[in-house]
Amino acid sequence: MNRKKILQKLLVVLVLSCISVSSFAQVKLYDLSCEQLDNPVGVEATTPRLSWKIESDERGVNQTAYQVLVASSKDKLNENDADLWNSGKVSSEQSQYIDYSGEQLKSKDECFWTVKVWTSKGESEWSEPAKWEMGLLQYKDWRARWIGFDRPFAWDEDTFHSRLSARYLRKEIEITKEIKKARVYIIGLGLYEFNLNGDKVGEAVLAPSPTDYHENIKYNVYDITEQLKQGKNALGVVLGNGRYYTMRQHYKGYKIKDFGFPKLLFQLEVTYADGKTEYIRSDNSWKGTADGPILSNNEYDGEDYDARKELTGWDKVGYDDSKWLVAEYVEQPEGEYESQLNPNMKVLKDVKPISITKQSDGKYILDLGQNIAGWLQLSVKGNAGDKVKMRFGEILNDDGSLFTTNLRDAKQEANYTLKGGEREIWEPKFVYYGFRYVEITGYPGTPTVDDFVGKVVSDDMKLNGSFSSSNKLLNQLYKNSYWGILANYKGMPVDCPQRNERQPWLGDRTMVCYSENFIFDNAALYKKWADDIAYSQLAGGEICDVAPAYWRYYSDNMSWCGTWLMVVDMIYHQTGDTEPIKKHYAGMKKWLDYMASRYSKDYIITKDSYGDWCVPPVTIEAGAGKSADKKHPSPIISTAYYYHYLQMMQTFAKLSGNDADIAEYKATAEKVKEAFNREFYNADKHSYGRDKLTDNLLAVAIGLTTDDNREDVVKTVEKLITDYDNHLSSGVVGMQWLMRTLTRNGYEDLAWTIATNTTYPSWGYMVEHGATTIWELWNGNTAHPKMNSYNHVMMIGDLIAWMYEDLAGIKSSREQVAFKQIDMKPMVVEGLDNVEASYESIYGTIESKWTKKKRNFTWDITVPCNSSAVVYIPTSGLDNVEESGDKLKSAEGVTVKGYEGGFAVVEISSGAYQFTSQLSK
Ligand code: BGC
Repeated sequence: MNRKKILQKLLVVLVLSCISVSSFAQVKLYDLSCEQLDNPVGVEATTPRLSWKIESDERGVNQTAYQVLVASSKDKLNENDADLWNSGKVSSEQSQYIDYSGEQLKSKDECFWTVKVWTSKGESEWSEPAKWEMGLLQYKDWRARWIGFDRPFAWDEDTFHSRLSARYLRKEIEITKEIKKARVYIIGLGLYEFNLNGDKVGEAVLAPSPTDYHENIKYNVYDITEQLKQGKNALGVVLGNGRYYTMRQHYKGYKIKDFGFPKLLFQLEVTYADGKTEYIRSDNSWKGTADGPILSNNEYDGEDYDARKELTGWDKVGYDDSKWLVAEYVEQPEGEYESQLNPNMKVLKDVKPISITKQSDGKYILDLGQNIAGWLQLSVKGNAGDKVKMRFGEILNDDGSLFTTNLRDAKQEANYTLKGGEREIWEPKFVYYGFRYVEITGYPGTPTVDDFVGKVVSDDMKLNGSFSSSNKLLNQLYKNSYWGILANYKGMPVDCPQRNERQPWLGDRTMVCYSENFIFDNAALYKKWADDIAYSQLAGGEICDVAPAYWRYYSDNMSWCGTWLMVVDMIYHQTGDTEPIKKHYAGMKKWLDYMASRYSKDYIITKDSYGDWCVPPVTIEAGAGKSADKKHPSPIISTAYYYHYLQMMQTFAKLSGNDADIAEYKATAEKVKEAFNREFYNADKHSYGRDKLTDNLLAVAIGLTTDDNREDVVKTVEKLITDYDNHLSSGVVGMQWLMRTLTRNGYEDLAWTIATNTTYPSWGYMVEHGATTIWELWNGNTAHPKMNSYNHVMMIGDLIAWMYEDLAGIKSSREQVAFKQIDMKPMVVEGLDNVEASYESIYGTIESKWTKKKRNFTWDITVPCNSSAVVYIPTSGLDNVEESGDKLKSAEGVTVKGYEGGFAVVEISSGAYQFTSQLSK
């Protein structure tokens, strides 16, 4: 082996994963740039975990040992002086979640680190150094006081459609010495924007992430060492309502939580070259006003802005704030402070409108061509006092006017009053809209598409995957899903971005969170969400249907609340992180015990609330004008899910060191399975429950069938689809399982038909009727308008997971999770000639690209270092399979396992491969 050569090719990429070790969790902050993802500021875990990825052009690179160095300064690290931790050479293949085991870390410590690895193919250089910085670990680290105004002002309306103006807070400071380091720790509730010397700091919008502020509050950290100047500086913070001052005031107080008026906790810590530290904090030396240009901001209703009231220069040095009020000390929120681990939102993309049309009533309709969540940037020139009104909606009425009935009482508008003179460019700060179309009234002159830009606002996540195929509709469905997911990430996964709801409903993400993970690196968001769910748990064990629990809905619905388990399982399966399982094990157990103790009768869970929510009406005509807001509770669903959770809890118990619980979960699961079959199986019909697709699908997918009836029930599933003209007939619950269950039980063709149907009910039907995202309802174009969102992700179900796992063949094995071993078995069906996909796993990039030309099959695969794959190559026989022109047996890194049901089965180590084969037809 030429060791020198290999040394150059091995590249180690560092990733720091932060974990929570106490009620104060840790955090990375993504405010400054993407780079910072791997160099987080504000880590609270005293045992941060270190991870890295190994890159190489060689095949078969597996780690055999590692050594980590952590130092308190870059210089020390450069000199290999690991004063914080030197792990020594550790024999291990583990390259993820290595516990930091060095000196005790304190608040604000800076840690520089590097790693080298030994592999089956040689030893790497030391990696490029990375860095993390600890957050504020103790409450006493906060020296600032909460300021703001705990009251409405004369011009505010503290009513149902609450109209609260934004609050502006400012302070000037003088820095007299040379600055070595400057950090801002900020909590601006509900939402803040932080400006320094007239410029916005960072790219975050609508920060911080929303939480149940009675329980938990996120702080953000900014490194402003570069921006802070010696001499005078001005600090300015604008506060918006967000979810703190809730959107609907004095309404159903028993249901909707309100937290109070916007407020700020701010701490700037400046370390000087002489080693001294100065603290600049929020206190009553700050000045404030609510008499600025943002007249009102309300997430449902929109933002009103009067440019004539702009406070020009308010965030710069020298502004005359003598008429401003002294900032007041305000009530401190109840929740604990925690550094934010999940990414903040930001403006991710601009969308150029495709048309603007004048209506007969003189109003204009602007079309973005894409349903998005975000806002509109306006460019306008006119006279002071001219008013432009913009109303946002997802579709149009038949006469071309804006359709708003599905927004219910959310106004979704923006009102801009011009200051006059030069061209004015404006966009709102503290709202977002779900829209494709905008109705514009009062625009001075004739607006053109160039006067507007759609701003897409979503969590600033890295992309995990890419997918394309030879089938246009499939690509469109992928695109619609992508846009839908993007629209509904808002620091929490919400149901929809437009109507007066926008709630983080648990049931919408059961398996959708798993589908989503193939497109977006959503693990940090879902870890935060698992915490939100935990915070919603009551003393008795019950958890809320929405989390953060902005609405007090405790319906004890198995399939909604159990999303808690599904989410931590998704994180484990896709990223190998067991921390959420350990953290939430006791809570999940308590919830399951609570459900069983209240609702289990002879091992049947009698309680269910939502049923197979939003099941498609039999025909489009039958559902016309009807509301889908009907619940069809079903003990089959709740009992099937109970069984599923009991199975999952066995795994969780093992992973969290609660082995003693396993036997009982196992025994109960067996009893539940018996009861399920006794109670719901109809042997004459070979069918479960009400002979519905979802009932039978759940039985098959969740493993509730028996050895005796499994084949029959699978046929029943098929029959329920073919009898319905090869269409699906399931609501949210069934959709989470449909595609993979069909495919993995021998009905690839049926799955393919369902995916590519364009007649009702199908995803293709949505596309045929103009959808650019995924609808809430299969019959969205004819159903009652009030419960009818055109941007819900729940019906994605397992479609995206199926595209990656079954079409592309990128699937993690259950035994060696997180793609440590990849199970690659592509689905080759008539009508699909090519699939190209990639997924960024914790080990590195996985690629799969296959093409079918007549009988010739070509498949390019990349497996990352330190992982391996079991590959199923479709072929008429083992003999005609080659790898990069070599016979299989002689190919490097390939071990032939045999021939199985039309596939050559081989095991491969890391690296890039090209397989070719001859198909039987
Ligand atoms: C939401 C759904 C949610 C459901 C539960 C709806 O109004 O939009 O997505 O899961 O309520 O009943």
